[in-house]
Amino acid sequence: MAQADLAILGAGAAGMMAALAANDRGRRVVVFDPMANQANNFAISGGLFPAAGSRLQRAAAIDDSPQAWLTDLRSYAGDSVNDRICQAVAQALPQVVDFLLDRCQAPLRFLPDMVAPGHQQLRFHSVTPASGASFHAWFREQLIRSPSILFNRQLPVIEFRGDHFLLTLAEPGGLAQRQLQVPQLLLAGGGFAADPEMVAEFIPDMAGALNNGSPTQDGSTLRLGRSWGGQLWGMDGYQGQGHTHPGGATRLGMSIPALGGIMVNDAGLRFVREDLGPSALAPHVLRQHRGMVLEVFDGAIEAQLTNHSAYQQAVGAGRVLSADDISGLAELAQVPADALVETLAQVTRFAQGRARDPLGRAEFVRVLAAPLKASWVTGALSHTQGGLLTDSDGRVLGQDGRPVPGLFAAGGTAAGLSGRGADGYLPGNGLAQAFGLAWRVAQALR
Ligand SMILES: Cc1cc2nc3c(=O)[nH]c(=O)nc-3n(C[C@H](O)[C@H](O)[C@H](O)COP(=O)(O)OP(=O)(O)OC[C@H]3O[C@@H](n4cnc5c(N)ncnc54)[C@H](O)[C@@H]3O)c2cc1C
Repeated sequence: MAQADLAILGAGAAGMMAALAANDRGRRVVVFDPMANQANNFAISGGLFPAAGSRLQRAAAIDDSPQAWLTDLRSYAGDSVNDRICQAVAQALPQVVDFLLDRCQAPLRFLPDMVAPGHQQLRFHSVTPASGASFHAWFREQLIRSPSILFNRQLPVIEFRGDHFLLTLAEPGGLAQRQLQVPQLLLAGGGFAADPEMVAEFIPDMAGALNNGSPTQDGSTLRLGRSWGGQLWGMDGYQGQGHTHPGGATRLGMSIPALGGIMVNDAGLRFVREDLGPSALAPHVLRQHRGMVLEVFDGAIEAQLTNHSAYQQAVGAGRVLSADDISGLAELAQVPADALVETLAQVTRFAQGRARDPLGRAEFVRVLAAPLKASWVTGALSHTQGGLLTDSDGRVLGQDGRPVPGLFAAGGTAAGLSGRGADGYLPGNGLAQAFGLAWRVAQALR
């Protein structure tokens, strides 16, 4: 019977990070992913992750620290934050950057123009071009090229035997079986946003909402961990996305409100302080007529989005309207022109400090000016944040609070950084946990 030190279910952000880091520590690793040829969440993500206090950030003369990021995180998630995991991930991320640069020669860079709602500091990192597709492709290539990581596209049947896991695979043709015994198993199959029953059970507010994440988020590895006694935590936490185009194929990205954009409903009226962050915006957007709103901004904001892959894809898909004046924009978008004129006049007064926004937004950044831009967006469920409760090294905890022997979880399968509901998701929490916790799992392996 074949043996390895670690089996990983899922070749996404968490699974691939853990595989590379465990392999670097001399562990024999085998990765399984039966849906490896579908785009997973990592591949469709913005590919942006925060690493407060990284050496790349320091080289760009940014003064930041894990503690400052945690302060921002708590300002969103409040008391419901998963403190143990947040602390561990915050400390791990600068080391993840070192690992990727020094041990993997990753083409990683700091993004000096990535303004993100809720972050008091510039702290996002990615590859070039900054997108989940290219970052994922880089990881996948490392995984496939590594002579000492086995990558298998089958789904094994797994038995938990108390002190080890027995994985059984059917040989092609189905006549014979291969078995693998491993002392440690990492569940990294992502969350459950694509499982309508689980969404209805744990996040009823988003039951039936558009899912702009990957269909691979079927909750399967979470259910496995639960069946072996794993405890669940924060299951109503999720990232909403309030800037998604109907159908979910493209989105505007998170930065437009932070650069001065606003949102109006189909009556041409504002309805929310737009700087809440992309996640918390989603339910507000969905409550508007037809669940659709018009995001309004201008050419000067667009000029700051040249490196934002999500926005550029939206432009390429013809999703952005452009007009020389407000009436022209109103006509293109089919909203009442007089209402839009009045709304933009109010916003100008707020931006100039001549009036206060009754919806509570303090920063309007700039007075919007021609050419004006707009795009119809809806609210979506991007990915779930609740999952298996782990200790700070990703060990799955049982109902009695003790680790289930040999069982680890990271990424969407593990409880995340964001606390309850949509409000706690600070941009970047997804990849931050997937990379940070997976890296810690690799350091903790026997
Ligand atoms: C539209 C969108 C944009 C996003 N943008 C960002 C961003 O810019 N920054 C950020 O921090 N986060 C972002 N996220 C979140 C981020 O993508 C996720 O947090 C991250 O990918 C989670 O990693 P993961 O490994 O858990 O899941 P994934 O990356 O989705 O990987 C899971 C893998 O497991 C496989 N799998 C599933 N079930 C099984 C099974 N039973 N056995 C074996 N394999 C299995 C799947 O095929 C998949 O390959 C975004 C998400 C979405 C949907």
